[in-house]
Amino acid sequence: MIFKSSKVNEFRLWGLLLTMGGMLLMIVGLAGIVFDWGTVGRWFAVFCAAIGAIAMLCSMGVYFAAGMLSTSATVVQCPECDRMTKMLGKTDRCMYCKTILSLDPKHAPKDSGDAPAPPAGDAGLETNTAHTPR
Ligand SMILES: [Zn+2]
Repeated sequence: MIFKSSKVNEFRLWGLLLTMGGMLLMIVGLAGIVFDWGTVGRWFAVFCAAIGAIAMLCSMGVYFAAGMLSTSATVVQCPECDRMTKMLGKTDRCMYCKTILSLDPKHAPKDSGDAPAPPAGDAGLETNTAHTPR
């Protein structure tokens, strides 16, 4: 992970960056028409609009994927800040305080859970966080 944030937030960030980039490119492309650069300007505008539209389509895809992922994400209560956060996969960071959370029972403190080890694979996503007992 690049931004040290939770995976759901990172997906949203990429979607936002793609949207902004696409819009910026389309605005820059309009300069080719506004400042009347002739045929070159018109092709420049068309090119920028096409790339910008593709970037915005990609961002929609990213947003859609993020939405799908967040419905399948596990909602857990963060042991650090007590807020509900969403996890993707077995390890992720809290969306609010960036604490690393894990569903893997081998990362759990010994006295935290009596939950049996989930079966291999992502089928057994029980809320078994690395949890400090209160
Ligand atoms: Zn937290």
